Amino acid sequence: MSQFWSPVVHRLTPYVPGEQPQLDNLIKLNTNEHPWGPSPKAVQAIHDAANDSLRLYPDPNADTLKHALAAHHGVQASQVFVGNGSDEVLAHAFMALLNHPGGLWFPDISYSFYPVYCQLYGITPHTVPLRDDFSICADDYLPQDGGRAGAIIFPNPNAPTGRALPLAEVERIVAGNPQAVVLVDEAYVDFGAESAVQLVERYPNLLVAHTFSKSRSLAGLRVGYAIGQAPLMEALERVKNSFNSYPLDRLALAGAVASVEDQAYFKEGCAKVMAVRETLVADLTALGFEVLPSAANFIFVQHPLHAGAELTAQLRERAIIVRHFKQARIRNFMRITIGTPAQCQALVEALKQIL
Ligand SMILES: *Cc1c(COP(=O)(O)O)cnc(C)c1O
Repeated sequence: MSQFWSPVVHRLTPYVPGEQPQLDNLIKLNTNEHPWGPSPKAVQAIHDAANDSLRLYPDPNADTLKHALAAHHGVQASQVFVGNGSDEVLAHAFMALLNHPGGLWFPDISYSFYPVYCQLYGITPHTVPLRDDFSICADDYLPQDGGRAGAIIFPNPNAPTGRALPLAEVERIVAGNPQAVVLVDEAYVDFGAESAVQLVERYPNLLVAHTFSKSRSLAGLRVGYAIGQAPLMEALERVKNSFNSYPLDRLALAGAVASVEDQAYFKEGCAKVMAVRETLVADLTALGFEVLPSAANFIFVQHPLHAGAELTAQLRERAIIVRHFKQARIRNFMRITIGTPAQCQALVEALKQIL
């Protein structure tokens, strides 16, 4: 604390990401990174861009990337907003679109960055409990006696549960709240859930956020984007251009475009992760774990006889890092990122010993 701080800083509780330990031989299954590398064409494009033109500022409008993403999703380039990681896209959306009387509604168990942005921007959070099976229920987000949402955000699939909400249920939330922006955070959608991008054309209040960090294996590059109708995009551009004209650097733009264009590599990478996930689910179920159904590149598991914190600590002693959350309802769970087959096998062997 210091007298020099602006008043708002005293009230902030910053987000704490999963740790990035610098140890050799570590099996790192705690931050949902992709187990295989990005498209070699993306790496080559970054290399070429580095040799080319770093002297010059990048395109402030990221037009080439917007057009590539628009073609990929079948939307107009004017319906795409890009940012320095989807965390930045979300931050701009919180400021530009999610601050209204009625508060921001989101699940009680969800991405823990949401309450942090609420604090930063002075948005009133309104948490909606997940149902007992840890699913989101669309009815809970519809206008009701207790009021109506000023805006709504939820991840689909949800994090850290991995559970996906069917598209028809997402649509019920969007259609049932024409007064409010609904932001669907689809960081993990490519691992087996249905994307709401196809609804954007019909709903002016829908915004869908994606990231290159998970399914495109480019967490280190920091690229994310959102898709929505033009008036929502204009609000995001106004905030962005009041903050940083050049959030995406030349390396990020080149790598992201090449990644989007390498559709075959992207599809294959997602399919491999999903296949490993199914094997890991079967192996852990055989060990007595309860595994929530996952449409993400991680699984959320608990054991009826062993506490999640204890298992996490014991795995750590064997150089395997998974994520544990202290929040009341999920204290007994571990969130495990899908690794390579060898990493998952090592995890299963370690758990066998521990149990
Ligand atoms: C990982 C993640 C993000 C942020 O990804 P970036 O690396 O900032 O692009 C956003 N939302 C959820 C739910 C995530 O898990």
